[in-house]
Amino acid sequence: MSDCLFCKIAAGEIPSACVYSDDLVYAFNDIDPQAPKHFLVIPREHIASCAEIGPGNSAVVAHIFEVIAKLAKELGFDDGFRVVSNCGESAGQSVKHLHFHVLSGRDMTWPPG
Ligand code: AMP
Ligand code: ZN
Repeated sequence: MSDCLFCKIAAGEIPSACVYSDDLVYAFNDIDPQAPKHFLVIPREHIASCAEIGPGNSAVVAHIFEVIAKLAKELGFDDGFRVVSNCGESAGQSVKHLHFHVLSGRDMTWPPG
């Protein structure tokens, strides 16, 4: 989508701090980190949110979780990490391109705010 911030980041049109990249997904540090380690993993394909996942595009979501597990090992998130995807206005989704927050490096509380 031409006016989507994360499509532009995945295409390299807007700079970002890359954590991981392949043909299907792109991962980069969050510009406003909520933990000592906080990056986002996105599909290169534009998917608006978790609500738009279905049989035609769910393979990339499985791949995203494989990438998250690989990065968590490589980055030493041995004490734990949290994966979050906000979906829709009331959940706090501000960018309408599917993304998974990966946070680590501090103790976290439950339930989230
Ligand atoms: P959400 O509010 O769940 O939609 O998450 C969007 C996230 O994108 C927020 O944590 C923002 O800090 C982050 N963000 C917004 N713009 C950028 C950017 N240019 N580079 C990196 N992260 C960004
Ligand atoms: Zn997009």
